Amino acid sequence: MTTNPLANSMTIPATMRAAVMTGLRRVEIQEKPTPRPGLGEVLVRLRAIGICGSDVHYYLDGRIGDAVVEFPYLLGHEPAGEIAALGDGVTGLAVGQRVALEPAKSCGACHACRIGRPNCCPHVRFLGTPPIDGTFEEYHCYAPEQCVPIPDHVSFEAAATLEPMAVGIHAVNMAPLKLGDRLAIMGCGPIGLVTMMAARAAGASFIAMTDPIPERRAAAQRFGADLVLDPRDGGAVERIAATGPIDIAFDAAGEQAAIDDATLCVRPAGTAVIIGIPAVDRISLWVHPVRRKELTIIMARRSNQALDATIRLMATGQIAPEKIVTHRFPLERVAEGMELVHQYRDGVIKAMIVL
Ligand SMILES: [Zn+2]
Ligand SMILES: [Zn+2]
Repeated sequence: MTTNPLANSMTIPATMRAAVMTGLRRVEIQEKPTPRPGLGEVLVRLRAIGICGSDVHYYLDGRIGDAVVEFPYLLGHEPAGEIAALGDGVTGLAVGQRVALEPAKSCGACHACRIGRPNCCPHVRFLGTPPIDGTFEEYHCYAPEQCVPIPDHVSFEAAATLEPMAVGIHAVNMAPLKLGDRLAIMGCGPIGLVTMMAARAAGASFIAMTDPIPERRAAAQRFGADLVLDPRDGGAVERIAATGPIDIAFDAAGEQAAIDDATLCVRPAGTAVIIGIPAVDRISLWVHPVRRKELTIIMARRSNQALDATIRLMATGQIAPEKIVTHRFPLERVAEGMELVHQYRDGVIKAMIVL
């Protein structure tokens, strides 16, 4: 049966622009045919796409662990936009509808998927993670069940922070945080800040945060951290401990020093949650304090079905992750955005591609 997939669509140009990575630290704009949604697919006109720390790892090194980029390649996994066309057989979504895209598609059949932890699925396909192309482009064909409708009053930029915000919510869910818990978060970058917002919404009574970058410490202060310290000053762990026992500490930096500080500042029988993605392949633990305190060490990976909860919390104003957006770039300046984030220049917290 032949049907016109564009019968239900906006006007779609024949070609579109994509910011294609052609080598390490090289991104060029290429003109490509605009994809057409196939059976059971939708075409999304992208409007905002966050630049993530993991994008920057791929941009600089071409790999994270054994996930290796083959050029040409498209990064970008924090997209929001509007439905531009529906392929045959798609119901429940409408042209013009505003959506965020869930970047992770798990297999649904493996052990991890069946026990409700699809973020650990070994077969997961994740936008902008090799070998799956990402979304630094104008249009993207996608599965409708991966499109999450957003309320009218939530901007595209806010919607493009859904994925990192969901990472913070997942980390807090993993913790597990109890009302009134006292926390420390190492790292005041985007993930540290969204973890703080999630932890506040979940009832943390005290949150200490550390970061070597002054602008990031200032942001943590602005967003309501109770104590903000430079970890290089020395004595940060002691100063945090002096305020009272820390029940849970989060590493949101992926640095050895931050992981050490997190495990050292937690009370005996407490919990350390490691969210950061280290640039190196191995990290170590300060084993005797960790062992004597019998800490629970939790690794948090991406997010686990937290997008709906994130949208609900955004809609009620309990979290406002778009406040972390400090810089905006057009598609032709993806590389500039990557370099800015890599060098932590100009007070950058979250940079976003807007189009
Ligand atoms: Zn991300
Ligand atoms: Zn699976």
